[in-house]
Amino acid sequence: MGLNILFILFFGTRPGKAKEAKLAGVPCPYCERVGTLNAWVQARFIHLFWIPVYRLSSNAFVRCEHCKKAYEGDECTPRMQEALQKLKKE
Ligand SMILES: [Zn+2]
Repeated sequence: MGLNILFILFFGTRPGKAKEAKLAGVPCPYCERVGTLNAWVQARFIHLFWIPVYRLSSNAFVRCEHCKKAYEGDECTPRMQEALQKLKKE
């Protein structure tokens, strides 16, 4: 039991810093407003003794500030995909 607690403390996953970017000039497919879309990316890291050692897949989506609709994966238009890819690389 003692070992399990150590394992949880010293090894696990934590979210990285969230990154956000506005999609200028891109209309929301749902409410058709332009410039209300926000790309959001947050990577998860495996950490060992609180040091991030490995980056897991990122949590990424685009959300409209006006209608609050979120787009993920296949729902993303090519412009959204592009913005998310760019954010992931930053
Ligand atoms: Zn919208």
